[in-house]
Amino acid sequence: MKYGSPEHHAHIRSARWRWLVEERKSKVGHKCEVCGFRKYLQGHHVTYERLGCERIGDIRIVCRACHWRITQLHRSGWPIPKATRYVIRTTKRRIKWKRRWQRIKRRQLRTLFGSNP
Ligand SMILES: [Zn+2]
Repeated sequence: MKYGSPEHHAHIRSARWRWLVEERKSKVGHKCEVCGFRKYLQGHHVTYERLGCERIGDIRIVCRACHWRITQLHRSGWPIPKATRYVIRTTKRRIKWKRRWQRIKRRQLRTLFGSNP
């Protein structure tokens, strides 16, 4: 089965694919595996090696925004596993830094304006 072919699209819509996505969703807690968003979730292939008989580890649950980012990287020539790993890694890092930054900001506000900023 070729990626993007009519058979491939039929497969994506197939019952087995939908079942696999639901399985994965409940496994990861019904949220995007990249950013944690809980809406617009889609199944994403990490590998097409076993297209048609995928294992649960071959797919990820991602929201539409994260899926788009992965697809963009893939279109620019990156292999899908690499694009997926990259998006997961950079997003996690960004979330970590955001939290750290909020903590610093809170502490600064407390120092400047007392315990109740
Ligand atoms: Zn996401």
